Amino acid sequence: MTATTITPLSTYRNETPYPFCPGCGHHSILDQLNAALVALQLDPREVVLVTDIGCSGLSDQYFATSAFHGLHGRSITYATGIKLARPDLKVIVVMGDGGTGIGGAHLLNAARRNIGLTVLVFNNLNFGMTGGQHSTTTPNGAITSTTPGGNLERPLDICATVAANGAGFVWRGTSFDAELPERIAEAVRADCFALLDIWELCTAYFVPSNHASKKSLLTTMDSLRLEPGMLHRAEHPEYAKAYREASKPMSGQPLPAPQPIAPRFVSPLDRPFRLVVAGSAGAKVRSTARLVGEAALLSGLWAAQRDDYPITVKTGHSIAELVFSPRAIDYTGITRPDAMILLSKEGVSKVGRQLAAMQPTDRVFALPDVADVPTKAAVTIIDPAQSPVRLGAGRIALYTVVRALRELGMLPVEAFEAAATRRPSKHSDDNVATIKAALG
Ligand code: SF4
Repeated sequence: MTATTITPLSTYRNETPYPFCPGCGHHSILDQLNAALVALQLDPREVVLVTDIGCSGLSDQYFATSAFHGLHGRSITYATGIKLARPDLKVIVVMGDGGTGIGGAHLLNAARRNIGLTVLVFNNLNFGMTGGQHSTTTPNGAITSTTPGGNLERPLDICATVAANGAGFVWRGTSFDAELPERIAEAVRADCFALLDIWELCTAYFVPSNHASKKSLLTTMDSLRLEPGMLHRAEHPEYAKAYREASKPMSGQPLPAPQPIAPRFVSPLDRPFRLVVAGSAGAKVRSTARLVGEAALLSGLWAAQRDDYPITVKTGHSIAELVFSPRAIDYTGITRPDAMILLSKEGVSKVGRQLAAMQPTDRVFALPDVADVPTKAAVTIIDPAQSPVRLGAGRIALYTVVRALRELGMLPVEAFEAAATRRPSKHSDDNVATIKAALG
């Protein structure tokens, strides 16, 4: 990108006055952020202030820079997206201590990645905007509206947390520190995840409840053994740049072209047909459904497949719902199947309602041990033991489904073998032999 020449700016603030309570630390921190920006003389369009909810979340409105305002605790996520899309921008997050709790995982992951954000934590030790509730940084013993007897929790050490997890620049201080503008400028210049934990006073809530003052901020830090000052510097690759570098070989490459399946056969089907295959995980239910779905496409039909299986993937049921249609399929749900193929008890246990909805004109094809099911549909038993070739457990689903579809007569038999050989794989030969056995 070409560098932009700008007229020196004496302020990055706009004319809107701050809305904060008298004495609130936000005034001072934002003024010092402004001083840092003046020192840096960045193009304001290339500075993005990212905020979320809370009194500090209002901050972006008072600057003549780019800005993004979003949901509570999510400012780091927006900032990460902005930095990934535009690594050349200076992205500055203004968040409260509330956000470090609500968005704690975002903070950790941004530090871990060492993405080039400057995070200013306006740490007033409580939730100001919502009524002075305790936050993750409220000191032990502090009185807040939710800890009237004194806070029992130890506060989060934000600095140690991000430093231990990969941040490149970590500083702790207060809104009263004279060095703050220089520290902010240094953090913005640093090519890393930089965090400044800036302690300050919430004069509406924390100050009256805890007699807090400029001095007590430092004594509290001391009593909690949370040191102020420049706490950590580390050199790790900056994530947005590293990401660009790693993706360079793919950059500008065309996306893989779609490979449409051209019809080669003709199906006699003249209406949508809904088929449910109910079996067990690991028994190739889904791959069988995919193969016959491709056979339907090769026969000029539209096809939709919807699978249901437990998150444990290799145990429990596996259900594939297929819709074949001569017209575009608008709805893929199946309340009453036209046909159902039952392969195992685990599968049957999941399709009771559909079986109950089926009518005498509908068909059920079942392996012998699951053929006794409560349904009005006509039940046909398919016994893989009758196959002319010996079938291992991994071939029973395909054998049974192809036998059933042959009987239903909606797909030309040539389409199955064509689907099995369309994309050669280590299973192609077995699939072709199984299809031949089922059609034989
Ligand atoms: S409520 Fe607290 S944090 Fe919010 S503006 Fe007032 S003093 Fe500042």
